[in-house]
Amino acid sequence: MVLKVYNTLTREMEEFVPLQGKKVNMYVCGPTVYDHCHLGHARSYVSFDVIRRYLIYRGYDVNYISNITDIDDKVIYRAKETGEDPFALSAKFTGSFIEDMDTLSVLPPDSRPKVTEHIPQIIEAVETLIQNGTAYVTRKGNVYYDLTKSGEKIGVLSHQTAEGLLEGSGSRVDVEDDKRYQLDFALWKVAPEDEAGWDSPWGRGRPGWHIECTVMSMKYGSQQLDIHGGGMDLIFPHHEAEIHQSESCTGKHPFSKYWLHNGFLTIDKEKMSKSLGNFFTIKEILKKFPAGTIRFFITYTHYRSTVDFNEEALEEAGRARKRLLNTISNIRHELSEAPEDGNDCGLLDLTEQTKDGFIRAMDDDFNTREAIGELFVFSRKVNSIMAYEKPGKASLENALDFYSEINEVLGIFEDNKSASPEENICELSEDDILEMIKIRDEARDNKDWKKADAIRDELKEKGIVLEDGKVGVRWRREN
Ligand code: AMP
Ligand code: ZN
Repeated sequence: MVLKVYNTLTREMEEFVPLQGKKVNMYVCGPTVYDHCHLGHARSYVSFDVIRRYLIYRGYDVNYISNITDIDDKVIYRAKETGEDPFALSAKFTGSFIEDMDTLSVLPPDSRPKVTEHIPQIIEAVETLIQNGTAYVTRKGNVYYDLTKSGEKIGVLSHQTAEGLLEGSGSRVDVEDDKRYQLDFALWKVAPEDEAGWDSPWGRGRPGWHIECTVMSMKYGSQQLDIHGGGMDLIFPHHEAEIHQSESCTGKHPFSKYWLHNGFLTIDKEKMSKSLGNFFTIKEILKKFPAGTIRFFITYTHYRSTVDFNEEALEEAGRARKRLLNTISNIRHELSEAPEDGNDCGLLDLTEQTKDGFIRAMDDDFNTREAIGELFVFSRKVNSIMAYEKPGKASLENALDFYSEINEVLGIFEDNKSASPEENICELSEDDILEMIKIRDEARDNKDWKKADAIRDELKEKGIVLEDGKVGVRWRREN
């Protein structure tokens, strides 16, 4: 089976072949930390976490880099509003972001560089661009990348003409009046004395937004990346700017072989964003839903699709995930009573086939929706096998190992770090259930049918189904 990915650069599905054997340098743009992160951010980082985990699963040696934009106009404006020191403010929200990612089981990157810790390297890169003639310094002391030098490369990632880009250039294109060409982007911006800034050959200032990613991807990864990722809104100008300045710095093309972009998480069909004010922070949502449910909600959609957020959708995700968790719990329970060397009752083949289906789906541009679909079918079949047959220990252990294997990639069965109360598979422990069954058996022996039925009903309410058979009562968690 061959892994294929959708490459924004070519707008095609391509076979994934890294630049150097099994080594994968993967860079994902990190957040601008001026507030708590919202669910849209979670969408991006959980999606790329799954992609990273799957590459590892497929035997790649992944070096994952994700930066922190800890100085930027937004940080400075917010600090002015709140009267805080901008560095203290961004440090606080960096901590909040890392905590959220940890709660959502997003693996920490191999490198998490911060802009403020890389100013000398950024100045060096800007100097390289000035020296090779692709950047210019204005009278005010701003430095811009000269896009007219990029010629044919304009629109390389957004697949638009310069005219189209000019027309559509939104708030993320710098609008300073001392640029030569409207699409030129800032590499270094003059900073007034009362704002955060650093000395440079062009005066006191701070980096433009795009240059940090060029510098950090080179320092912690390579001059040429295998995968560069981020949300769709970063395609232009951010990622295109990265291509222009990186390729100009190194003379190497392509800056990144594959460009992957996640779709938006929306509310009422509108992108969730701080600027629109239609956001829920990850922390707010965690008060209502377990981390595992949030992760499942995000993962049960293909990373390029749009996912519309509302509480009902999260509740539904929680129920769907619970069905899978219940099956895992049922297998564990069945295992405690399974014959040591019993027949596998078709379970081994079924597990193998499902694993193939899982890999096939994930190889298709990380199609998590289909991959989880395979898991639902598998779980239904496993439950049915367990209801009618008595599979042996080895096959049940194999099925459990398979769920763990899947979890290594999707991370959807982890929930222990949730800030909200764990959504219990069932409030009752196995011991509680066995105790209740014992009491019911005694009631039945005493022909106290009312009590026996009441216990059965109570268990049913808590998701435990009793099956009276010839050899006694068996129980399972409801699916
Ligand atoms: P920002 O801090 O705004 O630069 O965002 C950090 C990352 O989160 C970028 O890759 C964004 O594209 C992504 N992102 C922000 N909002 C959303 C959203 N509503 N849906 C999906 N991704 C988002
Ligand atoms: Zn970036």
